[in-house]
Amino acid sequence: MQKTMIIFKPDCMEKKLAGTVLDRFERAGFTILGIKMMRLAPELLREHYAHVADMPFYPALERFMSSRPVIVMALEGRDVVARVREMLGPTDATKAPKGTIRGDFGTSSTVNVVHASDSVENGAIEIARFFKPGEIFG
Ligand code: ADP
Repeated sequence: MQKTMIIFKPDCMEKKLAGTVLDRFERAGFTILGIKMMRLAPELLREHYAHVADMPFYPALERFMSSRPVIVMALEGRDVVARVREMLGPTDATKAPKGTIRGDFGTSSTVNVVHASDSVENGAIEIARFFKPGEIFG
C-alpha cells in the first residue's frame, strides 16, 4: 500500500469541484487517511514548491495557492502515487486529455485543480509537512 498527498487547489474550491474530484478518487478505490481545510501560508508554500521556487512563475503560483482556503488530503491505495498522477493528467491543463481531472476542469499550467505527490518518498514527506501525526488515521 502507498500513500499520497492531495491538495484541492483554490480553483477546485472556487468552482465547488471538491466533491466531484473526491468522488473520482473514492470510485478508484482509494482510502482517505486524513483530510482538513487550511489556508496555505507563503512559508509553507515555499517549502512545498522548493523545486520551482526559482522559476519566473513562482510568485504567481504562490499568490494563487494562498488566494483562498484549500482542502488537503492523505490518500492510501495500491499504486496510488502513479494512479492518481495518471488520473490528474499533465501539469499544463490545456494539454491534459479529456477524461483526466486537469483536462476536464483545469485552466492553465498554474491553475490546474489538484496537487498530488510525484513519488512514494515525496508522499511521505508531504503528508508529514501538512498533517500532525494525530490527524492521520490508519
Ligand atoms: P505537478 O503539480 O504536475 O507535479 P510541478 O511539480 O512541475 O507540477 O509544478 C508544481 C506546480 O507549479 C504546478 O502544479 C503548477 O501549479 C505550477 N507550474 C508548474 N509549471 C508551471 C509553468 N510552466 N507555468 C506556470 N505554473 C507552473
